[in-house]
Amino acid sequence: MTARVSAAWDLGDEIASIRARGLYRRLRRIDGAEEPEVTVDGRRAILLCSNNYLGLATDAAVVGAAREAAERYGAGSGSSRLISGTLALHTALEEQIANWKGAERALVFSSGYHANLGVIQALVGRGDLLLSDELNHASLIDGCRLSRAEVRVYPHKDLDALERELGAARARRVLVVTDSIFSMDGDRAPLVEICDLADRHGAAVMVDEAHATGLLGASGSGLVEELDLRGRVLVEMGTLSKALGSFGAYVAGSASLIELLVNRARTFIFTTGLPPAAVGAAQAAVEIVRREPQRRGRAWQNARAIHAAIGSAGIEMPPLESPILPVVLGEEDRTMQACERLLERGVFVQGIRPPTVPAGTSRLRATVMATHSDEQIARAGSAIVEALRELR
Ligand code: PMP
Repeated sequence: MTARVSAAWDLGDEIASIRARGLYRRLRRIDGAEEPEVTVDGRRAILLCSNNYLGLATDAAVVGAAREAAERYGAGSGSSRLISGTLALHTALEEQIANWKGAERALVFSSGYHANLGVIQALVGRGDLLLSDELNHASLIDGCRLSRAEVRVYPHKDLDALERELGAARARRVLVVTDSIFSMDGDRAPLVEICDLADRHGAAVMVDEAHATGLLGASGSGLVEELDLRGRVLVEMGTLSKALGSFGAYVAGSASLIELLVNRARTFIFTTGLPPAAVGAAQAAVEIVRREPQRRGRAWQNARAIHAAIGSAGIEMPPLESPILPVVLGEEDRTMQACERLLERGVFVQGIRPPTVPAGTSRLRATVMATHSDEQIARAGSAIVEALRELR
């Protein structure tokens, strides 16, 4: 039986229009785990677009900790954390993260997306003002939209524009929101200057450390640590799902911030607590990150090698500021062609198009893992150079 719906419900038309604009997306299947080399859509390829930066998603100790936590605490946490879902395991991870971050307390969320929505909505509302970098992650953008506060988007890392907005602000609360490492460009926010400006104008700062967690700072806790900004940022948010190889997210800050989130953040209150396996894995991963700085050293070494290989072939690259290497190609079709050519050459780097990045800046977003071998990195570098030469 076909449903009787109006022409406005022709989903096929809508899909055709997505295709016509070069923006059609499909899911590519990886057989096996997020290893340095994978089988993607049936073809062997070096995986060069995972956020599993330290290789911890498949690390034996991390996987073992996940198994042990599941055996002891079960497959699921049973309910929302505020009903019966707060396991001793959640509390232990939160204490571990607070200690790592040098914060009074921490709270874990079911994902980075949940955390950003929940935190922003809990902290600001009507009558408040959000100042948000134009290249912030979608979850911060959506958090801003849902909060009902006024949102002013400032040009990427533009401190003069931010200062003007802060100077003109008359709101009750002003919150500056920024990625620390920008997810699609790999560059870093000028956090010291942002904190100085915010201090001068009585505003608070929220930093999303999703891509810096595990990679930056003496103990690997992020850019806030690296720049010695602890105590100057109201909210430090990060994910457990990238360098930490698990799933979920954390927020670290003052005891009153966490108390307020438990009472106000809807994406914390109205969702089931993180499953034990994810929590156990994250605990082991944090431990490894703190104890073994050589892992992030290796990720940086691999990033430098690929960056140098692409740059030496005359392909324009921004300075290296993280293991995220954007090769901006501009047009959507050309970007996806480059992605296919690379797959044929045994390298999987996903093409990134609008709305993930602004129109006209479609790109290959290459990311390295600490577990890529020198040989894999060299092969991937040459393949990128050859594929791009072919497309010229
Ligand atoms: N913030 C940033 C900067 C991200 O890149 C991402 C994930 N792509 C998130 C938040 C969302 O995290 P999660 O995948 O855990 O929902």
